[in-house]
Amino acid sequence: MAKRLNAHLKKTEIKKLKNKLLAEEERIVNKQLSKKIEFKLNSPGENKDDVDSANDNILVSTDLRFSNRELLYLKKIRKAISKVDSEEYGMCTECGDNISFSRLWARPTSDLCIVCKEESERAEHQSSQGRTSKSLGQSMSLVSSI
Ligand SMILES: [Zn+2]
Repeated sequence: MAKRLNAHLKKTEIKKLKNKLLAEEERIVNKQLSKKIEFKLNSPGENKDDVDSANDNILVSTDLRFSNRELLYLKKIRKAISKVDSEEYGMCTECGDNISFSRLWARPTSDLCIVCKEESERAEHQSSQGRTSKSLGQSMSLVSSI
């Protein structure tokens, strides 16, 4: 049998994580669905015979009012779920290293190992600092040339 990419995770662990991801997805989608249904109930003058088919439409509708943040999170969740199916879940997208179960359990959407995550945060921090010191350096040399 071919070795799984994410063989560091037990099948039961992957199952648990997938369930967690699916539950998260459901929670976000349901939150939006209940908003939408409320909205429907509150709008008068709709053809009552359409209610059943309207409910069907709600289930398949992509026209949900997600905030950008929720939409981004939902995308991350769905990406993680598709990775579970392709057995790439739990691998760092940066260096291909294993991401531990405990880290995934705390944050099922993580796609970087701790080392790469810290690296990317440091790089972000440095680039914002780099900009500051660069402009500071320019104004300094300006001052010294005067
Ligand atoms: Zn990594």
